[in-house]
Amino acid sequence: MIFDFHTKYDGDGKGHFGEYGGRFAPEMLIPALEELEAAYKNAKKDKKFEQEFLELLHSFAGRPTPLTFAKNLTKKLNGAKIYFKNEGLNITGAHKITHCLGQALLAKKMDKKRIIAETGAGQHGVAAATVAAKFGFSCTVYMGEVDVARQRPNVFWMQQLGAEVIPVKFGSRTLKDAVNAALKDWITNVESTHYLLGSTVGPHPFPTINRDFQSVVGMEVKEQIKKSEGRLPDYLIACVGGGSNAIGLFYRFLNDGKVKMIGVEAGGRGVEKIGDHATRFYGGETGVVEGYKSVFLQDEYGNLALTHSVSAGLDYPGIGPQLAYLKEQGRADFTYATDKEVLDAFKLLAKTEGIICALESAHAVAGAIKLVPTLSKDKIVVVNLSGRGDKDIFIVAEALKDKEWRDFIRSKVYEY
Ligand SMILES: *Cc1c(COP(=O)(O)O)cnc(C)c1O
Repeated sequence: MIFDFHTKYDGDGKGHFGEYGGRFAPEMLIPALEELEAAYKNAKKDKKFEQEFLELLHSFAGRPTPLTFAKNLTKKLNGAKIYFKNEGLNITGAHKITHCLGQALLAKKMDKKRIIAETGAGQHGVAAATVAAKFGFSCTVYMGEVDVARQRPNVFWMQQLGAEVIPVKFGSRTLKDAVNAALKDWITNVESTHYLLGSTVGPHPFPTINRDFQSVVGMEVKEQIKKSEGRLPDYLIACVGGGSNAIGLFYRFLNDGKVKMIGVEAGGRGVEKIGDHATRFYGGETGVVEGYKSVFLQDEYGNLALTHSVSAGLDYPGIGPQLAYLKEQGRADFTYATDKEVLDAFKLLAKTEGIICALESAHAVAGAIKLVPTLSKDKIVVVNLSGRGDKDIFIVAEALKDKEWRDFIRSKVYEY
């Protein structure tokens, strides 16, 4: 059911989506990528694998997540009907656990005893450390030294989950350097180790396998919306970092030509200047980085550019190759929301619907706030809330300049 679905946007089945995708990896990693691809091919045909995956999603992750009609926000915006897919109710608070569980099952099949992961904000690191604990793998997470300092709560949780967090001290000491450190580890320990990659990016087969695992989101939505509305939605909206939650929502609807899809990128402080945002489709160029061909934000020398977003999870210069292809084909549209629009959307959602969403997801909400009033009342819009907002308490309180929160943080320092 999950793994025998195809669309005309799947490319050549070898990870090429038009000109995007591919496998631009060091020679020494090709056998590991081939091993993973073969393991996945076998798993896809194995009914037991699918059952095991679904059982874990149900009994451990908390799936299916609810699809909630946003009655108050719909009334306020006075346009199309809004539904929220609440991925924040998954264990670890976001959609990421779904593809982590899928990859952990593959690692088990390949008889790997250790997983490694890269992480920027730490969300993927926490999800990876969670499945490692659940499956009894040892786990090493690479994280830039700058990010370790910025994201202390997630570092603490990874350690509590039993993972070793290694601060990466070279380069800009952020996500891209963590990726390089993880790749180096993988080359050295490829026999024992699975590299658990965190989004629909990287060399083939990662974009495809993570897409297939995440496609359960769209499968659930399809069933849920048919139950409440008796028909398919008119629009799907999701935020886009690497693209896993977006393609997870979109994939099962790609063959339904009337369903429109909108990805919302991080507009940061504005999209005019490289360095102020993470909108690959406003200022990015085609390139090959980190093992795949796609659209990347680059500096004048073609190196990855610095990015900015209020939400750490969208603060990434590349985008999943299949999304780049869907954009080129006109099957999905992309827009952006600025940091300010995102904070406004975050506040409005909390006050009208009682949902504190992740700042990443608030980009999708901001996209909906702009679109919905332009649509007639018989239209239906489904918005993916990729995660819950607990993790963002420091950023939101600081952005809102909440004085009492600042006093609280200070008082905590003095208690030690
Ligand atoms: C990591 C993350 C994202 C961005 O990743 P995608 O692969 O683009 O989905 C979005 N929302 C949340 C809550 C995240 O943790």
